[in-house]
Amino acid sequence: MKILVINTGSSSLKYKLFDMKSNKALAGGIVERIGESQSGISHTVLSNSHENTVYIKKRIADHSQGMHEVAELIVNVKTGVIENIETIDAIGHRVVLGGEKSTSASLINDKVKKAIKENSKLAPLHNPSNLAGIEVAEHIFPGKPNIAVFDTDFHNSMPPETFLYALPYEFYEKYKIRKYGFHGTSHKYVAQKASRLMGKAPGRTNLITLHLGNGCSACAVENGKCVDTSMGMTPLAGLMMGTRPGDFDPAIIGHLLENTDMDKKHLYRMLNKESGLKGICGLNDMRDIHAKARQGDERANLAIKMFSYRIRKQIGAYFAVLGNVDAIVFTAGIGENDHIIRLMACENLSSFGVKIDSKKNKAPSSTPFCIHSELSHVQIWVIQTDEELQIAREAVQVLNTRSKSYEI
Ligand code: AMP
Repeated sequence: MKILVINTGSSSLKYKLFDMKSNKALAGGIVERIGESQSGISHTVLSNSHENTVYIKKRIADHSQGMHEVAELIVNVKTGVIENIETIDAIGHRVVLGGEKSTSASLINDKVKKAIKENSKLAPLHNPSNLAGIEVAEHIFPGKPNIAVFDTDFHNSMPPETFLYALPYEFYEKYKIRKYGFHGTSHKYVAQKASRLMGKAPGRTNLITLHLGNGCSACAVENGKCVDTSMGMTPLAGLMMGTRPGDFDPAIIGHLLENTDMDKKHLYRMLNKESGLKGICGLNDMRDIHAKARQGDERANLAIKMFSYRIRKQIGAYFAVLGNVDAIVFTAGIGENDHIIRLMACENLSSFGVKIDSKKNKAPSSTPFCIHSELSHVQIWVIQTDEELQIAREAVQVLNTRSKSYEI
């Protein structure tokens, strides 16, 4: 069975084609800067022995053209991995916000599309692009089932005391203002993988999962289910991120609107694109920040300290939430690769039984590895996330049952 996974952003389209018999990706890539003069496609053919990437610089006017190019690339004699697009069994789509009620992976029909559209108010940067990607796929792969996998699904198990804000209750009733959480597909994937690696049933495992990439979030997982997560109604909340601030005093917004010439648009841009690591030291890529810190740059050092302090604080909070923690799991670009951040994030946690082994922590690996010392009561794992594989797996489950319905 072949599943094509699509993740559509406002100006990008990421894709990965899976053979679900072997659970392996055959090809994948990204169409970038859609609608701009500098657009192009990075396409990688994957095999057991090697990866072969081609970059095609080409003006891509819109998502529809982008998806046509992808369909062509995966069957092309030089870059293709399948004979024709008819061999694709289904298309799995990442949808960021699924809303409040049942948001399990669903076969896409008009009702599901309507619900995704209705939830655009709560995820204006993501849901409209996700929906556009679905509609383009329906057109380019006619007759093929499309399945939506919601980023918020894993967090749907949060109880009201976790997901409600202490605002007037009618804001929740009238406007659905509450915590939804994001990166759910990644947290779910690494949580299940960690349980398997530890030889424990997911339903009997307590974890703190840390997705540390350009966007960052933490999740408290009790007996395999999410009971709290650091992102909120939007992905601005929680940990410090590449260009987003994470938690800060909301009165600052009013203060800035009243006392500066900032308008709403400027404010949103500042919060989404100019804050976080970038706001503190001018850079948002952690590799560049380390390089600058090594040269003695004080702001780069400060950004690293702030970033890891917040992770450590979140870990401590989730120890209090969970009581008993089997493992801490690091994932995504920084979590998987950055031994300095991992070490700093685990500092001072020995009273919780957390002891990192600095040697194991430094050894790079492309497969999951553990970095706790023999004396640690809590395991610490580094696990490569694979949101696309998780989406493909859930798409297969939907195809197999075909009974899941989306209620909103
Ligand atoms: P992601 O959003 O998961 O792609 O992660 C992006 C972040 O991961 C960026 O801040 C990168 O600088 C960071 N990253 C990727 N590789 C490394 C690495 N080898 N060491 C440190 N940070 C890395």
